[in-house]
Amino acid sequence: MSAPTPRPGIMDIKAYVGGESALPGQGRVIKLSSNEGALGPSPKAMAAYRAVTETIHRYPDGGHRPLREAIARRYGLDATRIVCGAGSDELLTLLTRAYAGPGDEVLYSRHGFLIYPIAAKSAGATPVMAAEDGLTASVDNLLAAVTPATKIVFLANPNNPTGTYLPATEVARLRRGLPDHVLLVLDAAYAEFVGRNDYSAGLELVESPSANTVVTRTFSKIYGLGGLRLGWAYCPEPVAQVLNRMRNPFNVAAPALAAGLAAFEDTAFFDLCRAHNDYWLPWLLEQIKALGLEVTPSVCNFVLVRFPDAPGRDAAAADEALKARGIIARMVASYGLGEWLRITVGAADENKAVIEALTAFVAEGG
Ligand SMILES: *Cc1c(COP(=O)(O)O)cnc(C)c1O
Repeated sequence: MSAPTPRPGIMDIKAYVGGESALPGQGRVIKLSSNEGALGPSPKAMAAYRAVTETIHRYPDGGHRPLREAIARRYGLDATRIVCGAGSDELLTLLTRAYAGPGDEVLYSRHGFLIYPIAAKSAGATPVMAAEDGLTASVDNLLAAVTPATKIVFLANPNNPTGTYLPATEVARLRRGLPDHVLLVLDAAYAEFVGRNDYSAGLELVESPSANTVVTRTFSKIYGLGGLRLGWAYCPEPVAQVLNRMRNPFNVAAPALAAGLAAFEDTAFFDLCRAHNDYWLPWLLEQIKALGLEVTPSVCNFVLVRFPDAPGRDAAAADEALKARGIIARMVASYGLGEWLRITVGAADENKAVIEALTAFVAEGG
């Protein structure tokens, strides 16, 4: 007997586990495990979603044109080179399958987003990690890890789960140092939260004549539409053509397209979300530091907190202490960050509850 066998690499994948969302026996749960928007979706996005219900027997617009054109207008892009996906995860996976396969290497940073090695293995390619420098991607280490087999470099900028970023000059130096045939994918899932003058999501690099840089964006974070699965990529012309050949014709559902467009156009709600994060991110970082705990200098909508490597005081114990108060954070040991816990910026009362819980946890350790 011989059973069907998946291609090499597939069974090496450690399936992605999303943030937990329920606590048995707890009433109200504060879910801060998946970096979803603290204020939920725009009310206009919810109304647009509801308005579609009467016509969900119709296939969606497979060209995604109104959304692509709105995005293009806002950022001054070429709408024909925007490709929408069912979350940016879909686009990251398609790019990997298109440009890497058996014998090829897919390079990323040590604490980079876990979808990159998963996508590499699912394409039969070999994921390769470059060491970081102080929990921040290192351009020198990435460039030193390039081999003749390297086909794709993934850089989440800023990165999840570290929250750290590379300035635009460093990203440009990475691009200059890579061979022209290597595709650089800049995953800018948290770009909307970043308030630093030296940061760029990298859309300008896509315009280079060497046609070898892609930027991906998502509606899952600041737009609060993670449940709908919507993302987009800005691509050089040849790459857009590849993605449009590979993607399923109706890869984005009609409610996602409608709600996404409404969310994108609700700039007042966007500004509210940004102002919320601009206030609470530094507040959380300061409060946690005041407890004597180390944090990374996150520019995203989450904080990464280090706990002592001591039984009862470590990240697992902190996670349990938070859970006892109904707060779900995110263990990140699978990212090589066993001493750390990631906590999403929540609503005002949720952030205060986090600090109360951590204060009590630290005090118990006395
Ligand atoms: C959340 C996240 C994404 C977005 O994934 P979607 O599929 O668009 O929901 C992409 N990259 C990083 C680094 C993320 O944290």
